[in-house]
Amino acid sequence: MTEIFYDNDADLSLIQGKKVAVVGYGSQGHAHAQNLRDSGVEVHIALKDGSKSTAKAEEAGFVVQNVADATAWADVIVILAPDQHQRGIYAESIEPNLAAGKTLLFAHGFNIRFGYIKAPEGIDVIMVAPKGPGHTVRREYEAGRGVPVIAAVEVDASGQAWDLAWSYAKAIGGLRAGGIKTTFTEETETDLFGEQAVLCGGMSHLVQAGFETLVEAGYQPQIAYFEVLHELKLIVDLMWEGGIAKQRWSISDTAEYGDYVSGPRVIDSEVKSHMKDVLSDIQSGAFAQRFIDDQDNGATEFLALREKEQQHPIEATGKELRALFAWKQQDADYTDGSAAR
Ligand code: NDP
Ligand code: MG
Ligand code: MG
Repeated sequence: MTEIFYDNDADLSLIQGKKVAVVGYGSQGHAHAQNLRDSGVEVHIALKDGSKSTAKAEEAGFVVQNVADATAWADVIVILAPDQHQRGIYAESIEPNLAAGKTLLFAHGFNIRFGYIKAPEGIDVIMVAPKGPGHTVRREYEAGRGVPVIAAVEVDASGQAWDLAWSYAKAIGGLRAGGIKTTFTEETETDLFGEQAVLCGGMSHLVQAGFETLVEAGYQPQIAYFEVLHELKLIVDLMWEGGIAKQRWSISDTAEYGDYVSGPRVIDSEVKSHMKDVLSDIQSGAFAQRFIDDQDNGATEFLALREKEQQHPIEATGKELRALFAWKQQDADYTDGSAAR
């Protein structure tokens, strides 16, 4: 059985004794920074000059510095800018200001696993990766709970890297839920696979295909939306609470029988073999290279795909329906590409 670390297994005073610079004030950045501060840790926010995030961070009462100055000031530099920008930020502003004894901390292993960032000697390289979106990391902390974390140490120059990782994990609330040991390689490969094959890529395209199938067969798009998207949350909540077993326990016998006989027709052995191909591309670095090459090329493929997917008819149907719900769900503009926060 995997060993799980909780609050009692970590010493909060270790991170409380460090100066922490959080680079980026987006989804994870704002949550880590605010949770650390509420746990008694001295935190500065590091942003590029002219950043759109500066006002938000200052409004929240943080000292904001540019990345070079913050790196020079801090003992622990937490890199929470988007993965594709980390390499450039690191080379330009972080690496020249590192000194032996400092720590680099990540929330995802992408740049270390694929070799885009290589820390010099004498620097601890650790990861504390919350297994949830940044806004949940903050919301759970405020509610007295936490989002589970997984932690890893790539370089333990100080001999104290693990203790600091657990101390940090405690400060952001992760050990209220529990922390598991991993490696940069395991975290990066499983995280990319999970989001590509199941959570994001798999789910988005499963829902779209189901919607298209019903609408092409002549059913009303609004009804199709309810059946393949709206109800998904209710199903996922049950799975989250008690596994697939609780979900099957709660649904009707008709739905449960349909799950057993039709599920494997949709998610067949070919789907699994495609999943294995996706995993191979992650492990070989082919996915990482395609992503980074495109980003270096002005993200043309990425932006074209984003634009195309936003045009899927399920989005218009959903937007119209959500505005009519009795609980007046408010849609923000999710299409302008701005940082999530
Ligand atoms: P975001 O896209 O939310 O980060 C945006 C922030 O980074 C903004 O404050 C932005 O500033 C800033 N930023 C962008 N470019 C630079 C730069 N050149 N220099 C300094 N700051 C910059 O990132 P996420 O929170 O989604 O991801 C951060 C890390 O956390 C990644 O490694 C990701 O894989 C990991 N992670 C993310 C999760 C999530 O919930 N999103 C879950 C678990 C891990 P500006 O306003 O100027 O653009
Ligand atoms: Mg991820
Ligand atoms: Mg139904």
